[in-house]
Amino acid sequence: MKKLWIIALATLAVSCGNKAGESEKVTHYICPTPYESVEVVQPAKGKTPKNIIFMIGDGMGLEQVSTAWTANRGELNMEQMPYVGLQRTYCLNWLVTDSAAAGTALASGNKTNKGMIATLPDGTELDTMMDFAKRAGKRTGVVVVCRLNDATPATFCCNNIDRDEAEEITADYLDCGVDFIAGGGMDYWRTKRTDGRDIFAEIGQKGYNTYESVEALMGAEELPVAAVVAPLELPSALSGERGDMFRQMTAKSLEMLSKDNDEGFVLMVEGSCIDDWLHANRVDAAVEEILDFDRVVGDVLQWAEKDGETLVVVTADHATGAMTLLWGDIATGTVEVNFANEGHNGMMVPFFAYGAGAEKFDGVMENAELSQTISSFIK
Ligand SMILES: [Zn+2]
Repeated sequence: MKKLWIIALATLAVSCGNKAGESEKVTHYICPTPYESVEVVQPAKGKTPKNIIFMIGDGMGLEQVSTAWTANRGELNMEQMPYVGLQRTYCLNWLVTDSAAAGTALASGNKTNKGMIATLPDGTELDTMMDFAKRAGKRTGVVVVCRLNDATPATFCCNNIDRDEAEEITADYLDCGVDFIAGGGMDYWRTKRTDGRDIFAEIGQKGYNTYESVEALMGAEELPVAAVVAPLELPSALSGERGDMFRQMTAKSLEMLSKDNDEGFVLMVEGSCIDDWLHANRVDAAVEEILDFDRVVGDVLQWAEKDGETLVVVTADHATGAMTLLWGDIATGTVEVNFANEGHNGMMVPFFAYGAGAEKFDGVMENAELSQTISSFIK
């Protein structure tokens, strides 16, 4: 058991672009770089959104939001969103879900079993809001900071009965039809594939404009776009090497998906690595991942306010680390937490909604119901 745990931690540390030796438990943190939250005005009720931006903080429960709020001196962009509620995350065969089953519920509006990527327990492949959007003539996009084959983005774009089939899932992007794909995972697209295929070249042959760095992506002019900008995950937000990569990728997706587009778009943006650092019981790195995600939320809210026809929903797939905020100081951005485990838990998670149609999101909702409510604006 202990050996397994060590292997899991080592894999995790590598997947987050950090050395295994850095994965000691950290429960105390002072955030050195606070920022001011944006202020946005909510549009009138009763509007049908033309554009939908669905933002998922992986592992970001109420306790994580509260901790990040404290670290950022008592403010967060996501808290500027006027409609707030709680979401139940459980999946069909387990009270405590994983990202695959939770992602399937959030993407397709159907609960399923652990480990399944947009498929029902009997293997039936599910359509997701990306499929609904395509059929409605809308453009689609996914922007993440993890491997694109990781569970959350995969549930929006791919189908597989097993989340661990990394090569199969990556190859499934060839047929997803999503217009703007950006994230990491080149090891599974090309570099370390065991079947000799180069999925990155193949998607280029399918007509995608392909980019291997955020810098190169910034020069993109035409859809469809496939940007695979890291071997696995992007550099961690704590390391300082992340810089504005996540914000730049998201801004570029908004620019390209909205340009000369009367039908609108559906975009999924994930703060993917919050969960990884909570598994490692590292409050410092987890807080910086949440704050990086929240800065993107601020950019998206400002874009949506200007657009006036956009719905923004922020939520989590589940909470991780059984974390408790034990003590803190808003004046100095100090947080002190306890981690009761290294896994997920069954707590409800918050959702926040802003913009056209946001008034439909309140109270206590099932994860699948939250997705169905979003998709009701697409179909
Ligand atoms: Zn997890």
